[in-house]
Amino acid sequence: MRGAAAASKSRDNAAQAARQTQPRPAAVAASAHAAGRSPERVQAIVATLAAAYPQAECALHHRNAWELLVATILSAQCTDVRVNIVTPELFRRYPTPQDLAAAPLPAIEELIRTTGFYHNKAVSISGAAKKITAEFAGQVPRDMAALLTLPGVARKTANVVLGVAFGIADGIVVDTHVQRISRRLDLTAEEDPKRIEQDLMAVIPRPEWIAFSHRVIAHGRQTCVARKPKCDACTLERLCYSQDKTYWSDAAEDAAHPAAAPAKKHAKRRTG
Ligand code: SF4
Repeated sequence: MRGAAAASKSRDNAAQAARQTQPRPAAVAASAHAAGRSPERVQAIVATLAAAYPQAECALHHRNAWELLVATILSAQCTDVRVNIVTPELFRRYPTPQDLAAAPLPAIEELIRTTGFYHNKAVSISGAAKKITAEFAGQVPRDMAALLTLPGVARKTANVVLGVAFGIADGIVVDTHVQRISRRLDLTAEEDPKRIEQDLMAVIPRPEWIAFSHRVIAHGRQTCVARKPKCDACTLERLCYSQDKTYWSDAAEDAAHPAAAPAKKHAKRRTG
């Protein structure tokens, strides 16, 4: 009798355990996120981006690390096209950090006015020029810690300068495109750029760090735009199960993580 009771209790426990492991919304999101960061899937994303955007590179015009640093500071809340219109005259008048350090703030403001937030940006590039002149012998430093001491420079700008000007992969550039697409591709669930960068650095192979951000930015400009991404023309569509996809192929339906299927089908009905 005691054996039958024990067996019955064991069955009850197993049933209860099974009920507790039924996926709930948060658990579904977590399991989909974990699947999204598997080495095989990340490698497929990296390879697909490499094939789609083999020549992707920084769109800011520059001739050296100093010009790239200034252009990147100016690109905050502004298009690269606009920055490229402004910088030729800025660099013609003030070609070196020493020249810009000596320039009056109002003159700098006038030259960069159309990039927006021009007062703050003028203070930043003037301050960076002064510090580089006084403390770095007029040369843009080649390490993250030193770059982060410059006015107007946070990790994104420092990563752009290190990666593009010096070929140093110290981190991954996280701009608005990388932020949006990394979340859509489930490479991160974070919203803060520093945390997103940490998530990406944990799964993207280091030799890919520099090219990866260029390619994601190109993808964000051409296809995975903020509103109404062009999923039917997306080379990553089969690997993507973002909630705001605008199109689901049969291959994506089949390949998507099973836990994502309800959300996926809902998105298809909603957008179809
Ligand atoms: S399928 Fe759509 S949402 Fe996903 S990466 Fe491509 S364009 Fe972006």
